[in-house]
Amino acid sequence: MPETAPPGNGDQETDQDATASYPTTARTLPARGRARASYDRELVHSVLDEAYVCHLGFVRDGAPVVLPTLFGRVGERLYVHGSTGSRPLREAGTADPGLPVCLTVTHVDGLVLARSAFHHSVNYRSVVVHGTAVTVTDPEERSLALDAIVDQAVPGRSRDSRPADAKELAATAVVRLDLDELSAKVRTGGPNEEPEDLSLPYWAGVVPLARGYGAPVASDDLDPAVPLPHYLASL
Ligand SMILES: Cc1cc2nc3c(=O)[nH]c(=O)nc-3n(C[C@H](O)[C@H](O)[C@H](O)COP(=O)(O)OP(=O)(O)OC[C@H]3O[C@@H](n4cnc5c(N)ncnc54)[C@H](O)[C@@H]3O)c2cc1C
Repeated sequence: MPETAPPGNGDQETDQDATASYPTTARTLPARGRARASYDRELVHSVLDEAYVCHLGFVRDGAPVVLPTLFGRVGERLYVHGSTGSRPLREAGTADPGLPVCLTVTHVDGLVLARSAFHHSVNYRSVVVHGTAVTVTDPEERSLALDAIVDQAVPGRSRDSRPADAKELAATAVVRLDLDELSAKVRTGGPNEEPEDLSLPYWAGVVPLARGYGAPVASDDLDPAVPLPHYLASL
């Protein structure tokens, strides 16, 4: 792929009014591709709930840092956890009123192959959340958050594992980010081609990407008497 034609660069996005469920703000309105932007609560939740990881961006010493991390959603709140020694989690605890962050989630649903290199793209669903990450200290909320993070991977798993003990809880920091200021963006469909390219002899279309699960592999030291839970067998 030539550097002058990065993927998606020619995938022109037209500006149209976005429908709003979450309120739009100056910083959640894309400059480009507004027709693909959405603030629909249900859509936002579905994109978040389908994801295993998010990327947490923040500024440290004047420069941006983006870290991949697990997360969980409880209603209109996202939670991120980690060691109490984790720097962003520490910074969220010491910054007043919290750590300004931008959290993103992305699903790539298909490779969009155009006749021209310029119009190559991907089909995607993404969410960008802006806000302030604050440390959660309330034991009940922490417990809810930690369960949500485990359940984000496999729904119901938190009820089918040993809860964290006091020592583990003491070593774990939890931060919260409210779903107040955010946007989703979705691209679907085939390539946007130039009319004069339609007769070119290059294959064009979409290669769908689907998520799949392999067969669960039991730990070597698992007691053979422990059965595979139905929620894993049915994945
Ligand atoms: C997997 C993937 C690949 C992409 N590849 C390209 C590419 O190669 N080239 C390209 O130009 N664009 C690409 N995009 C789209 C890209 O994320 C931006 O939306 C796009 O660059 C337009 O930026 P903008 O100037 O409108 O954003 P800005 O005006 O800077 O954004 C303003 C606000 O709009 C919202 N917003 C912007 N983009 C998104 C998003 N994707 N999801 C949710 N909210 C958003 C955010 O709240 C943001 O703060 C890709 C998106 C995804 C998910």
